[in-house]
Amino acid sequence: MDKQEKMKELQDKLKDIDTDLAKQANNLVMGEGDINADIVFIGEAPGFNEDKQGKPFVGRAGGILDDLLESISMKRDEIYITNIVKHRPPRNRNPTIEEIKIYSPYLDEQLGIIKPKIICCLGNFATKYILEKYGLKDKIEGITKIRGQVFKISTLSGIVKIIPLFHPAVATYDPNKLETLKKDFEILKKEIE
Ligand code: URA
Repeated sequence: MDKQEKMKELQDKLKDIDTDLAKQANNLVMGEGDINADIVFIGEAPGFNEDKQGKPFVGRAGGILDDLLESISMKRDEIYITNIVKHRPPRNRNPTIEEIKIYSPYLDEQLGIIKPKIICCLGNFATKYILEKYGLKDKIEGITKIRGQVFKISTLSGIVKIIPLFHPAVATYDPNKLETLKKDFEILKKEIE
């Protein structure tokens, strides 16, 4: 099975998932972008607009993400974007530990298919999950402390770099965080080169 077929199979599995969140959501938000990309961005969970369109980061936070990508001369179709949780939590509340447990195996499968060289974790939830997954539990700190750091992990498919970043949603109400995000995207750019 090639990557495309594996991703389709995963999507079909997710379509059948019978969770409380799935019952309340309008759409599954699996992720989108280039499944052959070297870079994967991971957010938290779909919000109102994402649930409506079935696509990740299409609301205000998504607009900021697009601008940040553009600031390092990148486009959405050169990366893959997804979330830990694939259905919208009601009223955009934070995902629960239980929900992360239910949905994270699907994220693991996505990462296993794509095999990215760089994983950008948007916000605390993705950072915590990914650092734990790659055996870096002792490095977990609040996003304000560890953002912009590059953690290098040796895996069977090569070196994977993990870069925690502020969630772009925080930049919608804090211009300082936007400036920090811009600087951290420069760090990402250097890691790509
Ligand atoms: N916030 C997220 O974490 N993910 C989205 O897809 C949209 C907003």
